[in-house]
Amino acid sequence: MHNKISDLLASQKFFFKEGKTKEVALRIEKLKLLRSVIEEHETEICDALFQDFKKPKFESVLSETAFIISELDHVIKNLKSWSKPKKVSSSLINFPSSDYIYSEPYGACLIIAPWNYPFQLAISPIMGAVAAGNTVVLKPSELALNTSQILADILEIVFPKEMLAVVQGGVPVSEALLEEKWDYVFFTGSVPVGKIVAKAIAPHLTPSTLELGGKNPCIIHKSAKVQLAAKRIVWGKFLNGGQTCIAPDYILVDSSIKKEFIDAIQKEIVAAYGANPKDSPDYARIINEKNFYRLAAMLEGEKCPIGGELDKEQLYIAPTLIDEPALTSKVMEDEIFGPILPVLSFSSEENMANIIDNYSKPLALYVFSEDKSFSEKILKSYSFGGGAINDVVIQVVNKNLPFGGVGSSGNGAYHGKHSFDTFSHKKSITKRGTWLDVPLRYAPYGDKVSLIGKIMKKF
Ligand code: NAD
Repeated sequence: MHNKISDLLASQKFFFKEGKTKEVALRIEKLKLLRSVIEEHETEICDALFQDFKKPKFESVLSETAFIISELDHVIKNLKSWSKPKKVSSSLINFPSSDYIYSEPYGACLIIAPWNYPFQLAISPIMGAVAAGNTVVLKPSELALNTSQILADILEIVFPKEMLAVVQGGVPVSEALLEEKWDYVFFTGSVPVGKIVAKAIAPHLTPSTLELGGKNPCIIHKSAKVQLAAKRIVWGKFLNGGQTCIAPDYILVDSSIKKEFIDAIQKEIVAAYGANPKDSPDYARIINEKNFYRLAAMLEGEKCPIGGELDKEQLYIAPTLIDEPALTSKVMEDEIFGPILPVLSFSSEENMANIIDNYSKPLALYVFSEDKSFSEKILKSYSFGGGAINDVVIQVVNKNLPFGGVGSSGNGAYHGKHSFDTFSHKKSITKRGTWLDVPLRYAPYGDKVSLIGKIMKKF
């Protein structure tokens, strides 16, 4: 395995060195081809996602294929302009000069993807890497096998292996890939594996983006429009079977409206998935037994006013609410990453802050409030990757917004132009004129010290 990986990487480094990926026309041609191949295979992609975890077709189109095609169109349309050197104002100290930022591809990139949006979270970084002129090895997740296979099939149609290759497999393959010296590593996955990746690439000081997870608070202020909040939360929390990195992890609700909120959630679950969500064609399953048992253990001994039903054969966990779990309980220990929603009430802002401060910086934070000063205060008080006021998850749709975490929820960001920038080194270039050479900086310095001080401070 090691030899195969080393040979593949060597072929990509050679291809990169030849300069082919530096041609913007080739990048655009490949991205256009990728778009048309995805469109041609949309049904097979959705079928693969359904086989992997019964992902409903609507959700697959919304969050995987159409999501990606829309981003591809944006990148294809703007790539020529993004890849041109950007002129910036020059420093008078360097007169005469003109100054530029060149966007330069890093070289050979490794992209490691998770299983939960297995198509989107593989193709979206690939798009950025290819747009910026890099070569790519993609390691998709071994837990969404059908989608990994269709990814491999599609990408093989579009790219020669020396430009982009898919290496399938589990942890040993991932470890073998990480032993190589890459020019850039883009990892999406859990915090513990993120730490393993960071450690593995540290000896080479490889630049990287880590897209990780966290416990995302969702705050319901007493001024919130409760029924609308419940509708939006039910959609964002139970989408993809609750397996969304930016889904609300737990609710913090003002104690005066807690009962109203729980009743509203109950009503919205029934409205979305019927009285028995197991029969709904719109509700996905848990990815595998390991995750099913991990989630089932969180329900033990807890009070569930809504849901709580499990079916191991079908890897089904009903949309579930847990009422006031202890902060020391299993469900409040780590990121839940499943269709379980703990509801904790607060009676004061300090009380609420104590709960949020119990956890590392989350990937997302949400506030439902009609009181703008409360929402603004929350936005300014906490550090988190990104979020929304009066909605959940939808911030991810705007290509102009960078998507990424902070602290333990990750570093770096992507989507739209941010993806192009993430996969480009920004090279600063000063082009000096030769028709004039101001002698000020040269020795002997003599009595030029006060003059240089004045000029430097001014410009
Ligand atoms: P994971 O960390 O278990 O696996 C992610 C990838 O890493 C897979 O390709 C896997 O094969 C590989 N991997 C696993 N163990 C490894 C090891 N020891 N060494 C090297 N590689 C290894 O994550 P997952 O279960 O696929 O995805 C769920 C997690 O990902 C959640 O924590 C979620 O919050 C996070 N996530 C984050 C984002 C984001 O954009 N920030 C998006 C989706 C998921």
